[in-house]
Amino acid sequence: MNTTNAVEPPDRTALRARYRAERDKRLRSDGSDQYIEPTGRFAHFREDTFTERVERDPVTDEVTVAIIGGGFAGLTTGARLAEAGVTDVRLIEGGGDVGGAWYWNRYPGAMCDTAAMVYLPLLEETGHMPTQKYTMGHENFAHAQRIATHYGLYQRALFSTEVTSLEWDEATSRWLIGTDRGDAIRARFVAMGTGPMHRPKLPGIPGLDTFEGHCFHTSRWDYPYTGGSPSGEPMDRLADKRVGIIGTGATAVQAIPHLARDSGELFVFQRTPSSIDVRNNRPTDPAEFDALEAGWQRRWLDNFATLQTGGFTDEDLVMDGWTDIAKRIRDRVVLEMTSTGEAFTPELVARAYEDSDDEKMTEIRARVDTIVADESAAEALKPWYRQLCKRPCFHDEYLQAYNRPNTHLVDTDGQGVEAIDAAGMWAAGEHYPLDCLIFASGFDVHLAHSATYETTGRDGLSLSEHWVDGMCSLHGTHVAGFPNLFIVGLNQGANLISNVTHNLTEAATSIAAVVAHALTIGALEVEATAEAEQAWVAQFESSTRGFLGNPDCTPGYYNNEGAEPTPAQRLNASGYPDGPVAFFALIDRWRTSGSFDGLAFRAPGSAPLGGGATTAHEPG
Ligand code: NDP
Repeated sequence: MNTTNAVEPPDRTALRARYRAERDKRLRSDGSDQYIEPTGRFAHFREDTFTERVERDPVTDEVTVAIIGGGFAGLTTGARLAEAGVTDVRLIEGGGDVGGAWYWNRYPGAMCDTAAMVYLPLLEETGHMPTQKYTMGHENFAHAQRIATHYGLYQRALFSTEVTSLEWDEATSRWLIGTDRGDAIRARFVAMGTGPMHRPKLPGIPGLDTFEGHCFHTSRWDYPYTGGSPSGEPMDRLADKRVGIIGTGATAVQAIPHLARDSGELFVFQRTPSSIDVRNNRPTDPAEFDALEAGWQRRWLDNFATLQTGGFTDEDLVMDGWTDIAKRIRDRVVLEMTSTGEAFTPELVARAYEDSDDEKMTEIRARVDTIVADESAAEALKPWYRQLCKRPCFHDEYLQAYNRPNTHLVDTDGQGVEAIDAAGMWAAGEHYPLDCLIFASGFDVHLAHSATYETTGRDGLSLSEHWVDGMCSLHGTHVAGFPNLFIVGLNQGANLISNVTHNLTEAATSIAAVVAHALTIGALEVEATAEAEQAWVAQFESSTRGFLGNPDCTPGYYNNEGAEPTPAQRLNASGYPDGPVAFFALIDRWRTSGSFDGLAFRAPGSAPLGGGATTAHEPG
């Protein structure tokens, strides 16, 4: 084990050649099709294993606003609506409680990688102080419950209820919501916060369904089998088990230290190592928290978004791994400009980015050597790609887990697990008998909209038809032909992926402003005009800012598994061309101006919007 922290500057040419070689050996002709849906014996991976489904009578009433999805998207929307005085609101959620990702992901070690002060929404409004800089999954889940309680969102909520259809009824200007409980709910407005990644996926490995041991997906952690609990109690039932885990992404990195601690023998099947930066978690200082002035969370959010996206501010309020690389880039740019007089140009920023990235990744690889004792394991754990090619990870116990005698890294040199049989797995030509197999293989990624039901708008047009060539929206929220419907998401908006909840809170604030305005002026319908939608979408066609990154990167869901995205995929993944900070400023001006440009409001008795008739829009 090398214990020095000195890091040699990289040979750029050799480094790029290594990055390319590592990418090339992982490229697969089947791209995203290598993954399969959990069906057949794995169908329960999509069911709710945490809450018993209790039979109830169908609901057939009307609400002012129905919110589909009880994660932070739905909750922030409900909260902002309540603040705007709209309380006749019903959450409809497939899980047994609110929480979304934090309801499902209860695996041991689950933690948010974004600092809680900016990740957890509505901290000032609910008066909650996060216990640590990075909070555990169960605290995030509890915060979701706190928001629901604080804003009275439990009262009318329907849990363990899947929406099966959503149809616009032109005659009454209401949405009709069908569910798997036989409900027929009418809603004046609908907000959809269904999240981009909640359907577990499995690797399509030959023999997958022949395994006779126990198995589960990380998003349905089987505590009755493993023992222990989401808050970290030992998984005592694994003590005599040979446990295998497929995947070394952000989820596995958090679960593996716990599995290493508690399993008889642990085998980690790795295809591509994650980059593991330092975590440095620490308890929140109550005195520091109490000293924060009113409006602090907004300032912290703006500061974090600015620093993350290449902007300049004097202070770094969050100070974490996500802002570190941006800080290095800024420092380099400033140094060049002040020492050589070079002008501020995109080329200077690109060079500073490349230098900072190489420096950062060299440090991350060097960190592996300082922690992992076994040299061949250390070599295999080094990531050879640029930092944002894959989801960066942050952990202070993950690499250490490989120093335990019971924990074995099975590196597949980019090729993945070869086959599964009744007794275990084959990788790199060897068979590994297993009692338990855990799939940390991620989620189906649906960037534009991930609902399992069809949405049918004006004139019988479905959302999938309208979006056959890619997502079309105004601000990522409003869709022409789909009146009184709002999408609570990231895409075609800020598309800020490092702090997802910032996007959601902003979208929620806009939606509440539009609904309140429509109710105040007595509008029956509000809808994006076709012209406004086209103009908004047109700006993405030439923009390079979007989620689906660089095909030169090692494959993963960040870059469409290395395949060139189709125009529709590009549109689905696009973000405001001037960046998140500019988008948040634009959307704030838009909703506070009162004119809601691009939306048309129709008063009762006036011509429908779809026919291009004059609207009854009144500026508020
Ligand atoms: P990922 O999709 O990131 O990881 C899937 C893993 O499975 C990868 O390591 C992949 O390897 C591996 N894999 C797939 N097929 C095979 C195979 N045939 N053989 C071996 N390995 C295979 O899923 P995660 O659940 O880890 O993370 C999903 C996302 O959830 C994260 O990117 C993040 O956005 C979010 N998350 C957020 C957290 C937070 O802090 N807020 C915490 C945890 C997750 P390869 O890399 O080679 O494709």
